[in-house]
Amino acid sequence: MNKLIVGNLKMNLLSIDEREQYLNLFKRELKGKKLEKVDLLLAPPFVHLEGFKKAKIKNLSLGAQNMFWEKKGSFTGEISPSMLKNLGNDFVILGHSERRKYFQENDQTINLKVQIALKEGLRPILCVGETGEEKEANKTLTVIKREIKNALRNISRARAENIIIAYEPIWAIGAITTPTTNEIMEAKVLIKKILVELFGANYTNKIRILYGGSVSVTTIQATCLDSGMDGVLIGRESLRPYEFLKIAELVSGSS
Ligand code: PEP
Repeated sequence: MNKLIVGNLKMNLLSIDEREQYLNLFKRELKGKKLEKVDLLLAPPFVHLEGFKKAKIKNLSLGAQNMFWEKKGSFTGEISPSMLKNLGNDFVILGHSERRKYFQENDQTINLKVQIALKEGLRPILCVGETGEEKEANKTLTVIKREIKNALRNISRARAENIIIAYEPIWAIGAITTPTTNEIMEAKVLIKKILVELFGANYTNKIRILYGGSVSVTTIQATCLDSGMDGVLIGRESLRPYEFLKIAELVSGSS
């Protein structure tokens, strides 16, 4: 299974000019790079999805950073899963901690989103992870367990293989500290165990478990490679094509 390198561009690239500059830089950095055994995915803001698609960057998948849990109708300001799919996206990030924090997303609404994403043929990248206080209180594993079990309610075994889980300790996002390799491995083992409990071993082999939180060229070895993660979810460094693709190169070279 290839490792997955996801870039979450968040609410950046404020104009078409900025977007085009980013895309040109990305293409330039990508040229001549031999990226084997890695899949690349970028999640730009909604308004840039079409522009990214039109850039036709080889071997780059696209995803959204969020979506609504209904397909169509009177939901002012929302984005439908079908719109994403019809625009050529295959992935959607769901339950990011910034959505939970600023937009009151909870396990129940995230579950609705995961269900419809799968139904509409989008692969959800479900983000889970503890706050700093929860870590201090030794609640990391309890939080991960609760978030995954709730978000994956009513999902059939047949659809399970399309899910991707991103373990993102909230205290490590946009920070300078990351968990230790052992802590990340421990989270991965627990996530795997929950998935097997929910879907059975045969249906979980293809579910990739990513790490996210201050991933950079300097932290990739400890956070992803040494801990045996199936890839990474990258925030800040995805805004810098050179760094993002260097991380991908390091992951590719390790396999
Ligand atoms: C994120 O917001 O999901 C994230 C991982 O950000 P950063 O890489 O900047 O810590």
